Amino acid sequence: MNVKEIRQDFPIFKHRPRMVYLDNAATTQKPKSVIQALSHFYEYDNFNVHRSVYTPAQQTTEKYEHVRKQIADFIGSRNPKSIIFTRGTTESINDIAIGYFQRNLSEGEEISVSIMEHHSNLLPWQRLANQTGAKLNYIPLTANGHLDVKQAEQMIGPKTKLVALTGVSNVLGVINPIREICKLAHKNHALLLLDAAQMAPEMPINVQKIHPDFMAFSGHKMLGPTGIGVLYINPKLLDKVTPWQLGGEMIQNVTTHNFTYADVPQRFEAGTPNIAGVIGLGQAIKYLNHLTMPWIQKRCADLGQYLYDQLSQVKRVIVYGPKHRQTGIVSFNVKGVHPHDVATALDLNQIYVRAGQHCAQPLVNDCLKTSATVRASLYFYNTKSDCDRLATCVRKVVNFFH
Ligand code: PLP
Repeated sequence: MNVKEIRQDFPIFKHRPRMVYLDNAATTQKPKSVIQALSHFYEYDNFNVHRSVYTPAQQTTEKYEHVRKQIADFIGSRNPKSIIFTRGTTESINDIAIGYFQRNLSEGEEISVSIMEHHSNLLPWQRLANQTGAKLNYIPLTANGHLDVKQAEQMIGPKTKLVALTGVSNVLGVINPIREICKLAHKNHALLLLDAAQMAPEMPINVQKIHPDFMAFSGHKMLGPTGIGVLYINPKLLDKVTPWQLGGEMIQNVTTHNFTYADVPQRFEAGTPNIAGVIGLGQAIKYLNHLTMPWIQKRCADLGQYLYDQLSQVKRVIVYGPKHRQTGIVSFNVKGVHPHDVATALDLNQIYVRAGQHCAQPLVNDCLKTSATVRASLYFYNTKSDCDRLATCVRKVVNFFH
């Protein structure tokens, strides 16, 4: 795979030739094919779905439903009805918190999350625990920043109703042993929700191997447009989840005093969906499939390792998480320099990273024992030269401040 050629598929790199984009965990850049699919949709195919009988509207509906099938294939699901289009990971997780666990959780029962969760996979469970009297347990990390599986084994038990876990930490870049934890949850008759926001962009996922009950991810973190995401519901649970958004196109019949739901998945997609977003996401999946997910995984892990090794050699730099890197996410700090100052210095050199708590305050504050970090997140189109430019600039920051 030729990365120089790959980069030519992304117009932003032509328009911003000096830019080193290292904020891919926040959102990825878009290939031409995705951008063109969006404008093509609005120029030629802009008709609402699942409503009208006229031919072009039916064709747009077919294209929309084709993407559902594409996504089912992408995650190894045999049933396209298990795929629900949402606004993104955040909405998908809230859909399950409100649509399932609000009615299926009582005082004395337990939810287990890890201490590394993004707020999206934490706050819905915190509120639910507060509302129902259920207990929220935090699975801790080992000293080197991996999920502590031994502790998870102690915590997940007969009272556990839900294990909500991220596949990849958006701060430490570690991959969690989802399959193992899923088995543990199921052995205890608990359900598992997989937050795949950082996992789906970087590695192959097969729901038939992992067996999550619910899974959430965002299109914009994997080359797709913003405002479109996916909720996977294991087919055996589809009828047990209640849609919390009500309105057009999610019903079978409405009278003056009641209504019946449409079949799944339509009942979960009330109102006019983000049709252009779905079409764009379809192109993004096509692009990822062309590169192949195993190649993307290796490329991101190799780049992550390279960057880790470069930064570790810079004096006064602390790099968080294990030495052996599994993904392209690398968080660090320069001792005695505020992360925002580091990010500002990088910005002056057109190197774009994120500085802050990365929507993972319990991890950053309580585990890493810092107020914030700098996070560089690489994707397959980044290069070793991007990593070198970052490391050189960080070295200059160290010299300037000390
Ligand atoms: N979960 C993780 C692990 C994330 O990294 C993010 C975004 O950074 C989210 C959830 C939320 O994704 P979104 O803002 O697309 O809903």
